[in-house]
Amino acid sequence: MVPASQSVPDAKKQDVSLYQFFAPGGVLSRSHPAYEFRRGQLQMAQAVEQALEEKRHLIVEAGTGTGKTLAYLVPVIRSGKRVIISTGTKNLQEQLFHKDIPFLEQALFPNREGKLNVCYMKGRNNYLCRKKLYDLTDQPVLSGLEEIEHYRAIAAWEKSTQTGDRAELASLPEASALWHKLDARSDTCLGQKCSSWDKCFITEMHRRAMESDIIIVNHHLFFADLAIKQQAEYAPDAGILPEVGTVIFDEAHELEDVAGSYFGISVSNSRFEELCRDVEASLQRNHMLSVSLSGALKNLRERAMFFFALLPQGEGRFAFENRREFLEENGDEFISLHQSLQRLASELENLPSKPEEVFNFARRAQELQVQLGFLMESDDRNTVFWIERRRGGRDKMNTFLQATPIDVAPILKTCLFDKLECAVLTSATLAVGGGFEYMRRRLGLEYVRESVLTSHFDYEHQALLYVPPDLPDPRTPQFAAKAADRIRHLLEITRGRAFVLFTSYAQMKDVYQRLLGELEFPMLLQGDAPKTALLEEFRLTPHAVLFATSSFWQGVDVQGEQLSCVIIDRLPFAVPTDPIVAARVKSIDAEGGNAFFQYQVPAAVITLKQGFGRLIRSLHDRGLLCLLDNRILKKTYGRIFVESLPNYRRTTDIRQVEEFFGSSE
Ligand code: SF4
Repeated sequence: MVPASQSVPDAKKQDVSLYQFFAPGGVLSRSHPAYEFRRGQLQMAQAVEQALEEKRHLIVEAGTGTGKTLAYLVPVIRSGKRVIISTGTKNLQEQLFHKDIPFLEQALFPNREGKLNVCYMKGRNNYLCRKKLYDLTDQPVLSGLEEIEHYRAIAAWEKSTQTGDRAELASLPEASALWHKLDARSDTCLGQKCSSWDKCFITEMHRRAMESDIIIVNHHLFFADLAIKQQAEYAPDAGILPEVGTVIFDEAHELEDVAGSYFGISVSNSRFEELCRDVEASLQRNHMLSVSLSGALKNLRERAMFFFALLPQGEGRFAFENRREFLEENGDEFISLHQSLQRLASELENLPSKPEEVFNFARRAQELQVQLGFLMESDDRNTVFWIERRRGGRDKMNTFLQATPIDVAPILKTCLFDKLECAVLTSATLAVGGGFEYMRRRLGLEYVRESVLTSHFDYEHQALLYVPPDLPDPRTPQFAAKAADRIRHLLEITRGRAFVLFTSYAQMKDVYQRLLGELEFPMLLQGDAPKTALLEEFRLTPHAVLFATSSFWQGVDVQGEQLSCVIIDRLPFAVPTDPIVAARVKSIDAEGGNAFFQYQVPAAVITLKQGFGRLIRSLHDRGLLCLLDNRILKKTYGRIFVESLPNYRRTTDIRQVEEFFGSSE
């Protein structure tokens, strides 16, 4: 949480219309050094203002360069309403809080006659839980020199920090195992019964949010909070975000995936281990660890270990389709695990004069029982059950039993859109074929105004889209070698300065290996360094070429000549064997729809637009886009992709690529 300036303005008193603000000669032109009149920005601001006034939902695609943050912030400030703004990325949160809002404060209230109450909130696991730190201080159980060092740094910092936000502790590594034991996540929080409640950073963040007019969060925090409120319908204090009537979702193309993960259930072996570890540490600290409780913990650890070892083998994400057969074979182990949780919960509840945290442990054990029961026995038709295995810290394999809603639309409709008076969804990539049918259907948005605003950029002159007509189908084994050859040729024309983006890690490695030693430009590979470090190196290394996969397809902004080419290997269809994708496809087809056209193609269109969107980030950028997958030309569905992309100049002739660069160099 980062507090901003204080005192509520009445922006309505500003005798400035939106036109007078955004138009040439207006407030914005006088205050912004790089001002340009952007018709789309004014249109978007008018649409947002109307939606706020008329209490309607609005979905608006605003291409890169529209200036959409100011286009919604100005009407929000003028409305005087309390509004939550939810973003997909931390970068955008920071831009809003540190740049756009201070700028508007200055522009709208130059004489400081009004100020905005704004707060910026991150997910709870970014903040320190003081109770956990104090408990650890009483009885330090630390493993290894590294944890001791981290503990000292955190303990010293806790005395001075105003926010408890770990971002202030630059020396703490991202993957610190100790931080995970000390963060303020909700399942371990005692709430108002906590002895540190009054000076808790989360309490303070909640208080600050209650006083704010604009609350900046990210989608993860927003949906985590909404899911908690749903589960605790009768607990008015559940959640940390205040009730509001209006929410602006920026980068709204991510909503379905984020909402799906928070309205689902996930139970892992590490959740059992953490529960046992927390119970043991607490009981030891309070001198309450009886022989019987030690036995209950030992029993639970063993039963959980057996149970998770029995689950179907495999790495990554895969469907857990044969749950019934699994239970028929391993029902005894499942029941034993259930009973172990029950035993621990009962023993904890029966402890006389126990501290508050013990009630919380019993609740966690019961919650695990209920969730495990749902994961193994539920027949809910709108849920896909799946398993995910991935390596955690110290190379330990973690297994997650997952249940995810197949269709989040009915949930979002009931829990969100029916309750809000105004939701504004915006992004540079929401429309498919110029319309919002796909997004409306996936998100459960029934009554909504729509607007597609053309970009401020002159794509026809700024970008050339090249699709080689002669390459083999990317699904064939011949593709990688031919694609590598063509990439080399293209990079020679563009003199490097490129992102080469892949839909799979294996394809990226394959093509990278083929080009290693073949290119005269510095080659960077995703995975060789953290994302931010790689991007920085790309920006600083003349003619660099970066090979990357999905995490570089969005939220990456490199302006200028340094990025003059974006090559994409194939149409980015989601992996059809992914359990969530497969379940959605099956469900749409079973209801008589056509999943390919209603779900797979539109989802891939949005991803492709995101990927190509990396190239042109300002009016002065110019460069080449290349899609090596010519199914976009040859298949009937290719038309939908073509019609959804901005009006780049298009070619299938590599000589035009040479001319394009010849004339620009
Ligand atoms: S209220 Fe919750 S998060 Fe805050 S210090 Fe207590 S346990 Fe930790």
